[in-house]
Amino acid sequence: MPKSPAERKAAQRARQAASGEKKLELKLDSQEVEMLAQNCAARRPGREPYTLNEYITMLIRKDAAELAQQLEELAKRQCGKCGDRLPVASCPCQGDSQCWATSGWLETKLNITP
Ligand SMILES: [Zn+2]
Repeated sequence: MPKSPAERKAAQRARQAASGEKKLELKLDSQEVEMLAQNCAARRPGREPYTLNEYITMLIRKDAAELAQQLEELAKRQCGKCGDRLPVASCPCQGDSQCWATSGWLETKLNITP
């Protein structure tokens, strides 16, 4: 017997929950909405623009790849004070200018300007 729309929706939700999918609500200002719509199209000139979902999910994956590479590079260095491998999340020497924990986060934070 064919499923009702409500049953199909419930089955879809169950599948998504089982796969770990999560639906998020984003708050964007009007400028961000504009940038999003513009860039979904600008990144695929002459092609079907990215959907909002594609665009955001790819940005997440792109950033994850960049961050993983950055952390790999960081791990080759050590805190100038305690000698721990970077990144150092907390250190008794924090506050000392030689200690990475003092301002090292500036290297990993998201920067808007390249
Ligand atoms: Zn340290």
